[in-house]
Amino acid sequence: MTRAEQRPAPQDFDRVLSSMCTEPHPAAREAAVEFLADNPGDPATYPTVAELEREAVAALGDVVGLEDPHGYVGSGGTEANVQAVRAARDLADGDVNVVAPESAHFSFRKAADVLDVELRLAATDDDHRADVDAVADRVDGDTALVVGVAGTTEYGRVDPVPALADVAADAGARLHVDAAWGGFVLPFTDHDWSFADADVDTMTIDPHKMGQAPVPAGGFLARDPETLDALAVDTPYLESDAQPTLGGTRSGAGVAGARAALEALWPDGYRDQYERSQANAEFLAAELRDRGYDVVDPVLPLVAADVPDRELEAVREDGWRVSTTAGGDLRVVCMPHVTREMLASFLEALSEAGSV
Ligand SMILES: *Cc1c(COP(=O)(O)O)cnc(C)c1O
Repeated sequence: MTRAEQRPAPQDFDRVLSSMCTEPHPAAREAAVEFLADNPGDPATYPTVAELEREAVAALGDVVGLEDPHGYVGSGGTEANVQAVRAARDLADGDVNVVAPESAHFSFRKAADVLDVELRLAATDDDHRADVDAVADRVDGDTALVVGVAGTTEYGRVDPVPALADVAADAGARLHVDAAWGGFVLPFTDHDWSFADADVDTMTIDPHKMGQAPVPAGGFLARDPETLDALAVDTPYLESDAQPTLGGTRSGAGVAGARAALEALWPDGYRDQYERSQANAEFLAAELRDRGYDVVDPVLPLVAADVPDRELEAVREDGWRVSTTAGGDLRVVCMPHVTREMLASFLEALSEAGSV
């Protein structure tokens, strides 16, 4: 065997239905490889990638309806959520708490843990969205941050962001919107989720999910420069003076890849992709319903359905990568690599699993 044949191949996406990662856009892949060794964590030494990052942040501002965005391209949604909690904690006094819906991503548990703040989870409504009254009940004078999710990880739900903004404002707390997954599809829907729709202070939006950038590329955005100032620490040994990021050295691949994906796809390419993905989700939901499963309507391109474990085990043995929610529902994320043909072939595999 030659050396090339022995080298392990990366995961094929043709049976991956559970992941929020996808094939990067070709231009993004190319840019990522070019900027692998440039460190945007030290912008004075690496000015070209620093400029690409400013362009990427400006483009993300266009996506989220924020004219003068402050932020950076980090390692992902987890880092951005940690940073949102950290900024809120540092801009408030004393022991603070964070109030989030139960549907919030598990990264908020990590944030609460490393930052030593209390995380209060509020019940969701019958449609898996944040229940505004339940959130208001958990908020008190020590609440530094209220979290809304725009595109939940398990059911693709969009929280009532303007109402949560009012709850936060009444309590003197900040509002963070986690649009890690949903941020690149929501601009093409009627949902109120963005900086333009409500008094949002910070947002998470991941180019490395629906944005079709290579991993790692996460977005952290803030309305005010004070948020980044609160996060910045002095960096004596670098050419640059201060660093607001959580990571130190970062790969230029994420920054350059995110910028290239945004340049290639915003807005028309993302709109086309949203329409394809949403149509696929609706197709899958209808087919599953026809087969007698309980299906949660796909508000965004994510389908959840009550499929018996036995059938899931059988399709997994067939090579399908599927996952379930905490409640045990199958969840299929209609990412850009998920085609109608893939879904048809998955449905066939499911039918076979159901008949044995
Ligand atoms: C995926 C996801 C995250 C975590 O993002 P990573 O990039 O995996 O760190 C956070 N919030 C939501 C809503 C997500 O879907």
